[in-house]
Amino acid sequence: MVRVGIGTDRHRLVAGRKLIVGGIHVEFYKGAQGHSDADVLAHAVIDALLGAAGMGDIGYHFPDSDPKWKDADSMQLMAQTVTILRRMGFEAVNVDASVHLETPKLGPLKMQMARAIADTLKIPRNAVNVKAKTGEGLDAVGHGEAIEAVAVAAVRFDQAILDEENKLRGTKVTLPAV
Ligand SMILES: [Zn+2]
Repeated sequence: MVRVGIGTDRHRLVAGRKLIVGGIHVEFYKGAQGHSDADVLAHAVIDALLGAAGMGDIGYHFPDSDPKWKDADSMQLMAQTVTILRRMGFEAVNVDASVHLETPKLGPLKMQMARAIADTLKIPRNAVNVKAKTGEGLDAVGHGEAIEAVAVAAVRFDQAILDEENKLRGTKVTLPAV
């Protein structure tokens, strides 16, 4: 059984913050504002994965009201999301994502981002695709005020993963009715 999910995210760009996208540091005089490292791409991918598995969203699993997630490395949250999915018998199949940023151009960094995400999700590198677009001078992205990301993810349910996780934890978790 393969299921798909979508994730979107947007952060305000402000001076004095590092710009981290898909776990990669992008040289820029502004960065994304947020409680964690504000990695817009990582957040969209996490939401897409959780959505595909029918397991809520990033705010439910990693609430920004929790000081534990202050300046958190969002790729670590993605790694934890893999664990959350596995406990329900799911694993990622592929991810397709688009990052919307006026400047700087993400160019060759797109490949590095895709690799970082694939390695975190423990899936083949060609199973993650990252695209980049500008805002064409329009709206918050086009005015250089925001960075956005959209991601679609597919996950696969595998009874063997669920059995392995149940064995590891000595608990019995069954797939919720869908
Ligand atoms: Zn976010």
